[in-house]
Amino acid sequence: MKASVILRAPFTFARAVWHAGVFLAEGRPVLTPQSIRKHRLSICETCCHNENSFCGLCACYTEAKTFVSSESCPDTPPRWAALTFVENQDTSP
Ligand code: SF4
Repeated sequence: MKASVILRAPFTFARAVWHAGVFLAEGRPVLTPQSIRKHRLSICETCCHNENSFCGLCACYTEAKTFVSSESCPDTPPRWAALTFVENQDTSP
């Protein structure tokens, strides 16, 4: 893993905690549903940036990263996205 990625890891972790906190404050689920987590993990497991279960782009541990619903893949374009939960929101007036 590149040194620059490792040096960014504390900031990446802090950002992940912040985003999860925002989801929690907004009443959105923080944990990814099991089926979606498995899908995310299967993508990470075959990704060229995966280095022994750590993402080579953000230094996150993929087993943990995929568990957090507000997390997204840092690749360009992202290989998987944060959950929006729009489908669960009541949009009636
Ligand atoms: S988070 Fe994205 S870039 Fe990182 S290992 Fe997973 S799929 Fe690859």
